[in-house]
Amino acid sequence: MSETEAGLPIDKNELQKDYSAETLTPSKEIIAVWKQVHKALRGEFGEAIFRSWLKPLKLQAQYHGTLEVSVPTRFMKDWIQTHYAKRILAMAADKSSEIKRLEIVVVQGAMIDDEPVVPSKKANENTKQKSDVFDVTSTLDERFTFDSFVVGKPNALAHAAARRVVESATVPFNPLFIYGGVGLGKTHLMHAIAAMIGEQQPEKQVMYLSAEKFMYQFVKALRSNETMAFKEFFRGVDVLMIDDIQFIAGKESTQEEFFHTFNALVDQNKQIIISADKAPSDLTGIEERLRSRLAWGLVADIQPSTYELRLGIVKAKRDQLQVDVPDSVLEFLALKVTSNIRELEGALNRIVAHADVSKNIITLESTQDVLQDLLRSHDRRITIDEIQRKVAEHYNIRLSDMHSARRARQVARPRQVAMYLAKQLTARSLPEIGRKFGGRDHTTVMHAVRKIEELSNDDASFAQDVEVLRRALTG
Ligand code: ADP
Ligand code: MG
Repeated sequence: MSETEAGLPIDKNELQKDYSAETLTPSKEIIAVWKQVHKALRGEFGEAIFRSWLKPLKLQAQYHGTLEVSVPTRFMKDWIQTHYAKRILAMAADKSSEIKRLEIVVVQGAMIDDEPVVPSKKANENTKQKSDVFDVTSTLDERFTFDSFVVGKPNALAHAAARRVVESATVPFNPLFIYGGVGLGKTHLMHAIAAMIGEQQPEKQVMYLSAEKFMYQFVKALRSNETMAFKEFFRGVDVLMIDDIQFIAGKESTQEEFFHTFNALVDQNKQIIISADKAPSDLTGIEERLRSRLAWGLVADIQPSTYELRLGIVKAKRDQLQVDVPDSVLEFLALKVTSNIRELEGALNRIVAHADVSKNIITLESTQDVLQDLLRSHDRRITIDEIQRKVAEHYNIRLSDMHSARRARQVARPRQVAMYLAKQLTARSLPEIGRKFGGRDHTTVMHAVRKIEELSNDDASFAQDVEVLRRALTG
């Protein structure tokens, strides 16, 4: 995480795109369309806004109905998403029926020479957009609904809690605190809640924003002496949702302000929903009184995904995209792309896009081919020896027990975990893995893989354990 001058964090993960450039190169027609749209934006929004926000937009790729444009910072991405994305998409779709979605990505390199200036109210007046950053509907991703959220053991609690908040006539718990690792569905759930409340209780003022944006608004209010308006604004909502609260770690004045807002809303019995990457007690850089406050309501975690859940998600995604992807390919993806759901979706999108462009059908073989770099990046770093060492260390058994014939549970189980990880994290075949484990048969390895999957599905703490190991190895 690095910081811009304005003190706003930039997410480095956002910088990594996993689409291979050559297959997604925009067609001549699309390049021409984008040029026209880009030009028209200046007329539509005026010179000041154009220069601050829209000029840096660059056409990046085109795939499966999606027009992908890039900006240099995460902050710009959020702002454009909130304020201009809908209009940009409408303009582009108007010119080409091929374009159905707009995706804004952060690509570093094209560093901006001057920090974007927040358009003044005046500059915004001649646009159709509300000048409000808090305009909830425009910040919500329409794809993130309860309908599209696949429920499995790892996210069942968080999902149930989210539904509860939406369905309860009164505030069931305050706050609802959802936490879990990157790309596991926290934002998806938050958006689903906001969208559904908006639909079912339109009279309610729901405000969803990232902690980053909260901080940005606060700093902006401080600078322009508008803290009173800021306080009033936030204290007037019925449901306040703050995503990724860990962003305000170390930001003392923002925390202070948030703490007071939080208390004021709880006092009025208004619902607060928070997400973070860690449990309240593990949030470093957050004041103790705020941490304990955050844990007052219901704390629901999203566990690392299981094979089952991943498979469910790619199947749902296939139905949604209405593309022809064989089950074997989905199983392969669910087995291999385990880091998070975002990456899993990225992998599926990539093979679909590739097939779309090359006009070939999707097979297991083509999938392995297209995802070669992604799969290899795991293999390159991890060897079976390493896995055996790490696992032995973790379970406190001797390394030699990885090869030994001992069948006592306390060594056999860790050995199975190591075999499972070897299958997941390396490109070695089952017989090769068997050989590395004291010359065992490939069926033994297969059995181990199944066993560990089963146990992971039934026992969340075991799954967590395996996940910890996997992370330590892929780190
Ligand atoms: P987080 O906020 O936890 O980092 P996101 O909510 O942004 O993660 O999820 C990353 C991607 O994975 C999104 O595209 C989201 O729709 C998808 N995703 C995560 N969990 C699920 C799920 N259970 N069902 C369907 N899609 C999911
Ligand atoms: Mg998120």
